[in-house]
Amino acid sequence: MNPVEVPLARMDNVDPALMDELLAAVERVARSASFVLGSEVEEFEAEFAAYCETREAIGVASGTDALALSLQALGVGPGDEVIVPANTFIATAEAVSIAGATPRLVDVDPDTHLLTAPIVERAIGPKTACVIPVHLYGRTVEMDSLLAVARRAGLAVVEDACQAHGARFDGRRVGSLGDLGCFSFYPAKNLGAWGDGGAVVTADPELAGRVRLLRSHGESPRYHHHVPGFTSRLDAIHAAVLRVKLRRLDEWNEARRRAAVALTQSLEGAPVRTPAPVPEGRDHVYHQYVVESTDRDGLRKHLGERAIGSGIHYPVPIHRSAAYASLGLAPGSLLAVERLAGRICSLPIFPGMTDDQIAWVATAVAEFAPATVTREAA
Ligand SMILES: *Cc1c(COP(=O)(O)O)cnc(C)c1O
Repeated sequence: MNPVEVPLARMDNVDPALMDELLAAVERVARSASFVLGSEVEEFEAEFAAYCETREAIGVASGTDALALSLQALGVGPGDEVIVPANTFIATAEAVSIAGATPRLVDVDPDTHLLTAPIVERAIGPKTACVIPVHLYGRTVEMDSLLAVARRAGLAVVEDACQAHGARFDGRRVGSLGDLGCFSFYPAKNLGAWGDGGAVVTADPELAGRVRLLRSHGESPRYHHHVPGFTSRLDAIHAAVLRVKLRRLDEWNEARRRAAVALTQSLEGAPVRTPAPVPEGRDHVYHQYVVESTDRDGLRKHLGERAIGSGIHYPVPIHRSAAYASLGLAPGSLLAVERLAGRICSLPIFPGMTDDQIAWVATAVAEFAPATVTREAA
């Protein structure tokens, strides 16, 4: 087989028909000269709420802001602790800090790489106000048991669905299961804008109203300010782009799932641990396809030499980052997360990945001979 180039992800500019449609949408906004809030954003919010099968969607400036404004809308702030898994994008913890609360970083299940109800239960203390389950890589957290533990303890639940747009748990869309659900539209996400963007979804009109106030100077109506807020709105150009792409999201997620099934089959016998199977009623929309290797850095070098992209999501667990050193969590304090950080490798996955590309990735991984002396995370 001839080597083919395989990027880690695919952007819109490789699809000429999609590009035409997106550029027409951008032109429509430019000609309307309505760039901030307005009908394009309102239409997108209505369509995204319907897509998530919940009542309200509020467009904001980023996924980080979606999380921070959600916490503030719940009244989570100084003196409160929020349970956050230590292997997520740092934004999950940052949002807690932005709200003035303290992240309580916890370990994850070594198979799914996700937060579980027992882990949450063990972490609950007198200051715990909220928990943020992260549907990391696009895989759904076990929400039934987690919600039960949270409800019993009186904790609010904010879903971080920034990597899981469109995933379903027991038939329901993620983001609609907790009190609020948060999405990022960073360009590389499963649903991406042409810049930064985000959304909060909720079935609670009161919480929605508070997020709406906070994202735009606490204003309602114009120049009447009820609370000190922010400039954190979804831009109309991004909303227009997102409306076009939302119509294709289910199809794209299905293509990601198909590529993942093919990759997992082709990787049988290869020297990596493939993603854990997805149980009935659970979902995975493969924002990332993450394998584990005892020689991850060697594997990435081997792939790079064969024009195959790869990534590490994420190399430094949040509790080991300089940003959160002040929490004082020593090496070895969150074992599963630390072990994963030394082993995980994201392989290419994107809608439109060809059979040749899947075969080339699988062949390259199968041919890799891991070094026997491994460099595991301390
Ligand atoms: C991308 C991401 C965020 C933050 O989104 P931004 O739009 O980049 O602010 C938060 N949590 C997770 C899990 C993410 O992947």
